[in-house]
Amino acid sequence: MSDNSYKELETIVYGMGGTFFGTSEVVEHLPEELKKYPFAITFGIRLSDAIIDEIGDKPTFTYFNHYRSVNALIDQISLKLVLSLQAHGKRAYSIAASQSIPSSPIPYSGVFPHKTGAVLAGLGWIGKNGLFIHKDYGPRVRLGTVLTDMVLPCENKILQNKCSSCNRCVKACPALALTGNLWEAGKERGHVVDARACSEYMNTNLKHIGRGSVCGICIKVCPRAGSGT
Ligand code: SF4
Ligand code: SF4
Repeated sequence: MSDNSYKELETIVYGMGGTFFGTSEVVEHLPEELKKYPFAITFGIRLSDAIIDEIGDKPTFTYFNHYRSVNALIDQISLKLVLSLQAHGKRAYSIAASQSIPSSPIPYSGVFPHKTGAVLAGLGWIGKNGLFIHKDYGPRVRLGTVLTDMVLPCENKILQNKCSSCNRCVKACPALALTGNLWEAGKERGHVVDARACSEYMNTNLKHIGRGSVCGICIKVCPRAGSGT
């Protein structure tokens, strides 16, 4: 790819309100039908601290609205990236900002986890809450991904997990869904988080606030949020 094409992708992300941007090669992590898009563009939006800080033992209506607004922005940025790549004669496939496919081989997941691309792009790591932890903004981010056959510069350098002895999210989770184990590449998600327990808790207890799809407690309590420490 030319420097200009790369710059154009970056400009789309930052110009539309993205906070960070990275690229990686993901072919070995893709299902067979998506392997024709071996590279991933990952970008993210930093969430509002003021809104996250209001979360107590349950999410707020404001947080649910924020979550949906950010998802809509992510989907718009993804669409713009896809159109730009297509205009360059490349194939591109966007992953929905929030998606859980019932037929997915891994329950409670979409066709490709955004956090896989984000970790491979060296933007952060997976925390004990099972979420992507950005190196500067902690878990207070949401991610977008566009897969493409445009050859992108990538190092696939994975950062070290910095959760260390912290267990705040594990102790705060009302569903007891977090095991306290550190994430390790290649291990199943259940090593860190019981996705069924998390989802069932939200569906049973938080349906009236966020339709059972948001909680936010393990984002709110993380000390790595916002400070970059
Ligand atoms: S989203 Fe809520 S229920 Fe799910 S792991 Fe985090 S704190 Fe627990
Ligand atoms: S709260 Fe602590 S253990 Fe949980 S993700 Fe954040 S740093 Fe890691």
